[in-house]
Amino acid sequence: MIGIYAKGLNPREATREFFAELFGANLISSALLPARKAGLNQIFPALLSSQDSLDETFPFAPVMPLSTAVQLSKITRFANPTNTVAVLLRPCESRAAVELVKLRQISLDNVLLITRDCPGTVEPETFEEKASDTLPTFADFTEDDLRPVCRMCSYPEAPVADINIGTFGAEGGIILEAKTEKGAEILKHIKLEQELEDTSARDAALKEEKDKRTAYAEKHLAELQKEVASIDNLVKFFAGCINCHNCRSMCPVCYCNECFFDSATFHFEGPRYEEWAARRVVLQMPRDEMLFHLGRMNHIGLSCVGCGMCEQACPHDIKVGQLFTLISTIAQKELDIHAGMSVTDPLPLATFREEEFCQMGEEKV
Ligand code: SF4
Ligand code: SF4
Ligand code: SF4
Repeated sequence: MIGIYAKGLNPREATREFFAELFGANLISSALLPARKAGLNQIFPALLSSQDSLDETFPFAPVMPLSTAVQLSKITRFANPTNTVAVLLRPCESRAAVELVKLRQISLDNVLLITRDCPGTVEPETFEEKASDTLPTFADFTEDDLRPVCRMCSYPEAPVADINIGTFGAEGGIILEAKTEKGAEILKHIKLEQELEDTSARDAALKEEKDKRTAYAEKHLAELQKEVASIDNLVKFFAGCINCHNCRSMCPVCYCNECFFDSATFHFEGPRYEEWAARRVVLQMPRDEMLFHLGRMNHIGLSCVGCGMCEQACPHDIKVGQLFTLISTIAQKELDIHAGMSVTDPLPLATFREEEFCQMGEEKV
């Protein structure tokens, strides 16, 4: 089922209206939505228990301070919610949520997964600079303001959702599309203005957006690949890294409660440091940052969804999200997998495939 909803309203107002209907018809008991922090120009996800606070929500704010997938994990990991929670996610957040379902960090029982088309986001500082009493919208920014990972993102529409809120190809209002039976059941209770029999305008708008991003990604990632093409270059790339691990803390698919790189494995006694310094003459400190980054690439390269939360959290502006996008694109292509596409996809690191890496000289067992 697909149709136009609230044609006379802008996407933000139409989405608020849609959530008000969901609450009004008792189809949901709470909703996790981007909302303005009281008195501030910051947008964070908030769990609303009634439709009365919908005026403070900004479903299409072009900023993402953190991945809502992690907040959904907090709500569902230890026990399923008692009643239906609707959660509004961007495509990269939905793909991260899918990976977390596969890793048993999210349960989708009693969750209504609603996604929205995403034209991209800007850094929180860029968003706040333009904010006053009214908050800026996507139209207030130029293409160059967007985060580079967004300009490369191949998913303007989320691959997994119960219901998607479409804006590409919409002329006023939003396009509601049921993607699962659960979503179709819900939409039966919502009055669509017009069922969409011909989706060619939306398909064309999505294709145009994807083509633009693919062209940017091909050029940009090829340049980045040259920039990190040797060990020396990679060391230079991470030269400013202070090993603070912010990039890991904000990564939605880096989920271990205790990270190996924070464990006692990396605690050494003084004489070891003296020994290393004597061997190398100069022991650069901190000394584990390359190991940390290479380890993280190894651990999550196959689950990386290219959201760029790592890069946004980096205090030294290291292009870590762009690098992880490059590495994960290559790794996922080699194994013919795509992170975040289906909750039933097997976890690559937990799956044995007999014919893996034959192209690299591995022989069949
Ligand atoms: S990475 Fe993609 S889905 Fe995520 S904010 Fe950027 S454009 Fe949107
Ligand atoms: S490594 Fe970076 S880009 Fe990849 S999922 Fe984690 S935060 Fe997102
Ligand atoms: S956030 Fe930046 S400085 Fe901190 S560990 Fe990651 S790359 Fe290094």
